Amino acid sequence: MDGLSSALGSDLAAAAEPVEAMDVARRTGQVTASQVYVLLRDRPLPPSRRQPSFVLAAPVYGAGDVPDAGLLRGWLLMGVRGVDFVDGTLKQIARGVINAKLTDVSVPGQERQLAALRDGEPIGDTGLYRETPIDVGGRQWKLELQPTAGFLTTGDTYTYQVIMSSGAVASLLLAGLVLVLVTSRDRALARVEQATSALQADIAHRQQVETHLREREAELERFAAVAAHDLKSPLTVIMGYCELVEDRVAERVDSQVTGWLKRVRTGTRRMQHLIDDLLAYAAAGDGTLDLEEVDLDTLVSDIVMERTTHLEDERPNIEFGRLPAVVADPARIRQVLDNLIGNAVKYVRHGTVAQVDVSAERDQDVWRIAVADRGIGISADQRENVFAAFSRARGSGYPGTGLGLAICRRIVNHHGGEIRVEENPGGGSRFIFTLPVTPEPSGQDPAAGRDGLAAATGRHPG
Ligand code: ADP
Repeated sequence: MDGLSSALGSDLAAAAEPVEAMDVARRTGQVTASQVYVLLRDRPLPPSRRQPSFVLAAPVYGAGDVPDAGLLRGWLLMGVRGVDFVDGTLKQIARGVINAKLTDVSVPGQERQLAALRDGEPIGDTGLYRETPIDVGGRQWKLELQPTAGFLTTGDTYTYQVIMSSGAVASLLLAGLVLVLVTSRDRALARVEQATSALQADIAHRQQVETHLREREAELERFAAVAAHDLKSPLTVIMGYCELVEDRVAERVDSQVTGWLKRVRTGTRRMQHLIDDLLAYAAAGDGTLDLEEVDLDTLVSDIVMERTTHLEDERPNIEFGRLPAVVADPARIRQVLDNLIGNAVKYVRHGTVAQVDVSAERDQDVWRIAVADRGIGISADQRENVFAAFSRARGSGYPGTGLGLAICRRIVNHHGGEIRVEENPGGGSRFIFTLPVTPEPSGQDPAAGRDGLAAATGRHPG
């Protein structure tokens, strides 16, 4: 009626009047007018601007060849403000010679005035007063008309016609409203049908695309895993023969040839690392977790020992206080901590000694485990990217495949936790991951379920 429309609408249950009208409309199948009340959307207005109003409620049924044909689908409601309604209709005709009052008289003793039009002093001759009953949407209204002093100066015939037509106009207008409502009902229904079928088509299309993508993803991963697996043995052969040739010809060939052989070996080792990482990545998010209690203290001590004993000088300084025991898959959680500690040791300014601090604390239902370093750090815009497969933030001069953190994220997510990196106050990076104190036994993530490699292969150190 006023061009206002809210996408969300309002909960009509907050007012008894429209609910009652909807209930009657449902029972009778007819367009029904509510009792007079202040529309919910007008309630926030200042009292002087609130108007007695009503709604017309039309029940809407499923029609045509649909499963719910004949069943109630909902209602279409039209709110009408009393003063606006009377001003827009009677005021035009009354032209200052008639006062009018519209009252809902459906419930004896509970009359509610909808609107009053007062254009002047009513004349004393009550014989000229008129009362017209109006039946609107199952309710009885009364239209009272009183000629004013202005009436006396106009011709009788005209005034009489005015008075009579006022009632007729009001009735006609209400009938018009009902008609508008009934025709809008069909339009509304058609729009709902249209929107629903468009939505259903869209959902079906998305599901199709998603299934297709999942299939492709699983296929690619299987391909990568199988390819990686099959590449391993020829590489081992290359590596073995390379070492053999090196041993045999060491004395006989010049240093240039030994240099070439060394390059073959380095390249082959890099390829082995990449294959190991690919296999670990493929396996990280899949399969059932072998959950058991893992003592992080022992685990971190082992990793530190492995990573530092062979170093002669400039051993990294890796500190950790008392670490708790968590419930996790030991092999996989080892991979996570090994990758994080390995990176913390690796990404330091050349010529400086790594400073690493491993800590853990409990935060309600999760363990929060942190690996902090004083290394080269990761710029804020790279902090999310580094968890994507093959992405390297600042690779130059540091060996690596760009898969380690992607593996970590998969494993942590598989356990029901999360991993992120932030700036370590004072310089460096701080990787934090969570593990549920009581993880789900199945440990299946939503993307799992495809036949990845059965066993996780360990990642090469650093
Ligand atoms: P890789 O180390 O094999 O390149 P990762 O997935 O482990 O792959 O790491 C991705 C990138 O994140 C690295 O190339 C590096 O740029 C950055 N990065 C990881 N850990 C650290 C760290 N502790 N300090 C600084 N940069 C890091």
